[in-house]
Amino acid sequence: MRIVVVGGGAAGMGAAGAAKQVAPDAQVTVLTEFEDVAYSPCGIPYAHGREIPSLESLILQEKEFYEQAGIDIRYQTRVTRLDIRRREVTLEGGEVLPYDRLVVATGFDYAPPGIPGSDLTGLYYVKNLRRAMEFDKVLDTARVAVVVYATLLGLEMATALAQRGLEVHFVDPHPWLLADVADPDIMQPVEKSFEELEVKLHLRTTVDAFVGDGKVRAVRTSAGELPADVVVVCTPKRPNNRLASDAGLQIGSTGGIVVDEGMATPAEGAFAAGDCAELPHSVTKIPIQGLSGSHAYAQGKVAGANAAGGDRTYQPVYVPWGLVAAKWMIGGVSFGETLATALGIPYVLGVGEGISRARYYPGAAKTRVKLLAEPRTLKLIGAQMVGGEGIKERADFLGMAVKRGVTLTDLAWMENVYSPAIGALNEPIALAAQNGLTRLKG
Ligand SMILES: Cc1cc2nc3c(=O)[nH]c(=O)nc-3n(C[C@H](O)[C@H](O)[C@H](O)COP(=O)(O)OP(=O)(O)OC[C@H]3O[C@@H](n4cnc5c(N)ncnc54)[C@H](O)[C@@H]3O)c2cc1C
Repeated sequence: MRIVVVGGGAAGMGAAGAAKQVAPDAQVTVLTEFEDVAYSPCGIPYAHGREIPSLESLILQEKEFYEQAGIDIRYQTRVTRLDIRRREVTLEGGEVLPYDRLVVATGFDYAPPGIPGSDLTGLYYVKNLRRAMEFDKVLDTARVAVVVYATLLGLEMATALAQRGLEVHFVDPHPWLLADVADPDIMQPVEKSFEELEVKLHLRTTVDAFVGDGKVRAVRTSAGELPADVVVVCTPKRPNNRLASDAGLQIGSTGGIVVDEGMATPAEGAFAAGDCAELPHSVTKIPIQGLSGSHAYAQGKVAGANAAGGDRTYQPVYVPWGLVAAKWMIGGVSFGETLATALGIPYVLGVGEGISRARYYPGAAKTRVKLLAEPRTLKLIGAQMVGGEGIKERADFLGMAVKRGVTLTDLAWMENVYSPAIGALNEPIALAAQNGLTRLKG
């Protein structure tokens, strides 16, 4: 059995490993246009921010690891064509690789900014480890950075560059940060905290052009020109589906490759996984794309196992998320009020503010929790949070709560750990649910 995986990111490497587990004798080949596989792109912002000492430490496995595992990785190898009918992959230079099973894991591209100057050199898109190493050296002498678009990555990069000591301008056309994902009241303390870090927020400001002579030297915005030593472009993620769509694989409404619950495409012998694919959101049933690395890895494992003859399924997604933005942690599950309203989804709301540890214990942080529940059954359908610690664990827990049909009443009277150094007597999730029930009675 010859299994060819196109892509060496989280999905591709997950697929290759799982295929080998299910069929140890299979010939598994991974093709990647990058110089490395098995590094954590998620850690790049923290290395730029000097919170972790080096970009080298993001490499999770050395090349020999895969040789020993019997996985043939072909680095800096660009695939130019997939022929699904003949079951062949064509590489740059003309070499043709036949396969029995194919896993497409070509990941994401940042959406093109689509403004004048987008072809200038010096615009930094955070992804490839080697480019990150080059950019990190540029940062040593840079003074002013402009970060464009307040996406999840934008928040991480603005935080990192401020911590690195640069003067940071953060530009976004929306009225609040991360407006596509988070509610304004969740982001309000984050915005204040960015100001404390001396990041200059330029909200409600469009990015009109990158300015420079060959190399970018400024960003033209609706509020004037911002000179920049470095410009970081954090446009939203888009599925990288060029090869798949040229090959006739079905592309869905989000631009992602269409797959079933076994990560198989409708074309025989071809699977897809990770950011190049789309999947239904389990509450709305609407297809979504651009999930996280943890989703990509899990999907890759299902695709790889099934390509090798296994029978695994990938569950619909509830999308727990979280990150550090300025001095706060934010996160949630499924959707918040803004998105629910935009989608016309009815909900009742419970909002509560508590603390992450006992009031008197050093480091106790205010934690705001918003719970959205289905009006008739009171089953949880979404949540958003901002706090100082424990947001990740609460998002994971609430993801499972949505999945299992837990109600506001269940959460209002949930059991919780109380230990001064790690948890308060009143769990903020329970407070939010109790407030929601009181409001409903009122
Ligand atoms: C800066 C940054 C921060 C992130 N932070 C987080 C985080 O905090 N948490 C989290 O869960 N996730 C995070 N992610 C993960 C990310 O958002 C994606 O979900 C994840 O990278 C998707 O993995 P993937 O394998 O689907 O695709 P990708 O990582 O995009 O990998 C695509 C692969 O396909 C290869 N490829 C594409 N086209 C070709 C071709 N024609 N020929 C050969 N090879 C090709 C590329 O070389 C690459 O190896 C972060 C990513 C970045 C870049």
